[in-house]
This record gives sequence, structure tokens and C-alpha cells, in this order.
Amino acid sequence: MSDCIFCKIAKGEIPSKKVYEDDKVLAFYDIEPAAPVHVLVIPKNHIGSINEINNENSSIVAHIFEVINKIVVELNIADTGYRVVSNCGDQGGQTVGHLHFHLLGGRNLAWPPG
Ligand code: AMP
Ligand code: ZN
Repeated sequence: MSDCIFCKIAKGEIPSKKVYEDDKVLAFYDIEPAAPVHVLVIPKNHIGSINEINNENSSIVAHIFEVINKIVVELNIADTGYRVVSNCGDQGGQTVGHLHFHLLGGRNLAWPPG
């Protein structure tokens, strides 16, 4: 989508601090980190949120989790633990309308979230 900030990041039109990239997925550091490790993992193709995952596009989600598995090893949080979150919609706290998975780690994370 032309006015989507994460589509622009995926195309390199807005800079990001990349952690991982392939033809389908980009992972980059969140600009307002909520934990010592705070990475966002996005599909390069625009999907608005979890609500838009369907039979045609759902394979990207499996791929994203394989990518997360690599990143946590590289960033040394695989053994200490981490959390993967995708906020959906207003009450879910979603502020960017392009599917993304927050990868949070490097400290003890409280549960339940606010
Ligand atoms: P959410 O609120 O779940 O939709 O998550 C959106 C996340 O994107 C927030 O944690 C923001 O800090 C982050 N964010 C917004 N703009 C950028 C950007 N240009 N580069 C990196 N992270 C961003
Ligand atoms: Zn987008």
C-alpha cells in the first residue's frame, strides 16, 4: 500500500536498522524499544493485520516464525526467553496497519500485559 509506513520500510524508502532480510520478510529494530531486544518482523507484501491472514497468504506466517527462530539465536535470547506479539485492531493496541510481529526479550516480561 502506497501510504503504509511498513511497506515503505520494506521497499527501503524509509530507513530501518535491519536485523534480517530475504525476498519475503524484513526484520528491523523498533524505533521505540520496549525491551533491550525489540525487533519487528514483517511480511514485505502488505497484509493489514491478523484479520487479513487467509488460505492464500498464511504461509508467510510460518516463514516469519522460522525467521524469528534464527533471530533469537543470533541475538542470544533463545535460551533466556522472549515474547512474540502481534497487536490487532484498536483494542489490541495496533498503531501501524501492516501485519507485524514484535519480538521482545532481554528482560523479564510481565504477564498479563496491560
Ligand atoms: P503496534 O503499535 O503494535 O502497531 O506496533 C507498531 C510499532 O512500530 C511500534 O512499536 C512503533 O514504535 C514502531 N514503529 C513505528 N514507526 C517505526 C519506524 N519508522 N521504524 C521502526 N519502528 C517503528
Ligand atoms: Zn504495508
